[in-house]
Amino acid sequence: MISTIAYISVGLALIFQMGGMGMGGNMMYYVITGIAMLASKLVGDTLQRRFKQYSQTPTQLSGKEIAEKMLADYGITDVQVVSVKGTLTDHYNPANKTVNLSEVVYNERNVAAAAVSAHECGHAVQHATSYGFLKMRSNLVPIVNISTKFLNIILMIGVGLAAAGMPQLLLLGVLMFATTTLFSFITLPVEFNASNRALKWLEETNATGTPQGQKQAKNALWWAAMTYTVAALASLGQLFYFIMMYLNATSRNS
Ligand SMILES: [Zn+2]
Repeated sequence: MISTIAYISVGLALIFQMGGMGMGGNMMYYVITGIAMLASKLVGDTLQRRFKQYSQTPTQLSGKEIAEKMLADYGITDVQVVSVKGTLTDHYNPANKTVNLSEVVYNERNVAAAAVSAHECGHAVQHATSYGFLKMRSNLVPIVNISTKFLNIILMIGVGLAAAGMPQLLLLGVLMFATTTLFSFITLPVEFNASNRALKWLEETNATGTPQGQKQAKNALWWAAMTYTVAALASLGQLFYFIMMYLNATSRNS
């Protein structure tokens, strides 16, 4: 997901360069994008390595059983646990109240599967208890969907028009980008909170088996949260760049 953003960003940067932006501004964009890509690769690789390692630590319950037990313990009876194809496809769907677990997580009995399963149930618990940040995040989804759909084209045309003395569209682009940045930051408490709920339950039920297993579950979920953190910081860096670009355009024209 973040690498897609990074690639789009490189593409945009090239377009801006063709649009006649100063070299200094573009360098800054390459630096921001480069750091974001590097950080996302490092975090992504570490996450994969840790998950692989922690899937060697056996647990008694499968991901499916973990999910069903945790939901039952929280008194949640209207959420289904289902298996979905693919890897890293695990998610909670509030629309139809399903905890979706990838086949590996659903079927296997290890610490990595337990951590992922309990984390997704953490989202189900957030939904059941009307957790504020989850509600905020859900409310932002339609706006963010529209923003991401039209963002690239609006920024592209906006930059061209700004160079011609009409910065209004660029401002709209900056505001739309800001909603996506806000969204990625609201995602952070939602993710950290789901992991905290998961770890609390795993510890109370001793589902990971040993203190070592619990430590591994904690570490796996920490790296998963880091991917969201890097994405949010990258988005903030890019937002600053677009704000500066807008301010430059308006000061040039005044
Ligand atoms: Zn999550």
